[in-house]
Amino acid sequence: MSQSQAEVELLDRNDPLGPKREAFRIPEGLIYLDGNSLGVLPRAVPARLERVIQQEWGTDLIRSWNLHGWMELPLKVGAKIARLIGAQPDEVVAADSTSINVFKTLLAALRLRPERRVIVSDLDNFPTDLYIAQGVNALLDGKYELRWVHKEGLEAAIDDSVAVVMLTEVDYRSGYRYDMRRITELTHQHGALSLWDLAHSAGAFPVDLNDCGVDFAVGCGYKYLNGGPGAPAFVFVARRHQAAAFPFLSGWMGHQAPFAFLPEYVAAEDIRRLTVGTPSVLGMSALDTALEVFDQVDMAVLREKSLRLTDLFIEQMEPLCSAYGFQLMTPRAHERRGSQVAYAHPEGYAIMQALIASGVIGDFRAPNILRFGFTPLYLRYAEVLEAVRRLEDVMRNQKWQEPRFQVREKVT
Ligand SMILES: *Cc1c(COP(=O)(O)O)cnc(C)c1O
Repeated sequence: MSQSQAEVELLDRNDPLGPKREAFRIPEGLIYLDGNSLGVLPRAVPARLERVIQQEWGTDLIRSWNLHGWMELPLKVGAKIARLIGAQPDEVVAADSTSINVFKTLLAALRLRPERRVIVSDLDNFPTDLYIAQGVNALLDGKYELRWVHKEGLEAAIDDSVAVVMLTEVDYRSGYRYDMRRITELTHQHGALSLWDLAHSAGAFPVDLNDCGVDFAVGCGYKYLNGGPGAPAFVFVARRHQAAAFPFLSGWMGHQAPFAFLPEYVAAEDIRRLTVGTPSVLGMSALDTALEVFDQVDMAVLREKSLRLTDLFIEQMEPLCSAYGFQLMTPRAHERRGSQVAYAHPEGYAIMQALIASGVIGDFRAPNILRFGFTPLYLRYAEVLEAVRRLEDVMRNQKWQEPRFQVREKVT
């Protein structure tokens, strides 16, 4: 092994993000490599929720919409996320789930290219994105060609018949990261619009939506943003499209004047038109406080640490790859990598269960992928070393062969 315990401990001591770990509650002894699926609990969140429940809900009740700014939460939270993804504060709003936000933005984008009939995406895109597009197509009488292609064929699939190119920046299985700037430019050269899913990008590394000229984007609140299970998602619409992007989920919260209670729908002129109904105040409040951990965090520094963590993991895993047949699925090139590392292994499910039992939490994605997420705000380099050590133990002692690790749970 080329990096010794002493070396990683030195890396941890000199880590500019090291003190951030204190902002999170991390169970003692647990090595958590799943912050890409559900981020850990920021320490400030329980007190905020306690206040929202006891004071705002319990005592101030309906007055809290004004008194405690409940109504403004979606925009306030959106503005905090905007800084992390290279958007203006008035281009992002927190709302609904990622799936629903894909529905809203895809439909709005298609209407901006009414003469075109093709939606391009990646066959390996997260299923909900593909499923939502199928529902949108059914709603529009099936008149669209859903051009799902492999990554190698993506650029060739974009031509002048395409309305929308809909991609997830980082592949949820392999951790492959698209070149957002290049694909967005190519999309625009053909007169189409871009819709990026930032589920595995927001909070994981710097994203530059406006610099890349992106039209629409969506993303999750509960992954790298640590907003808690089922946290509100977010939606980005570039300012230049806001007045024209029609919100087909035309609910009262997206109306120009919700409390005028008019019978006719008139969309708000700004990003608020992407909201639909009453915001989930508890979830919004948790996400609002969770985002404070990013205050003063330089996303370039965060990215540097993320790459060092994933490099270290890949390097430490090399002997296990040759000894036990793990196959690296994640690109080695830094610019093509998100903040996760994935390995294929035919016994992937049982191995992951055995590893979790040893106190290292990653996850499994069908058909055979072991997935490890690296969250630079709270992970230590020494934990990377220890995680590989425990995986080595699982393999050397064939712990994964125990029958209890073969049983498939509902959530993997
Ligand atoms: C996690 C994830 C989602 C989740 O969508 P929900 O509506 O929150 O369930 C969507 N898209 C991608 C790419 C994801 O990784």
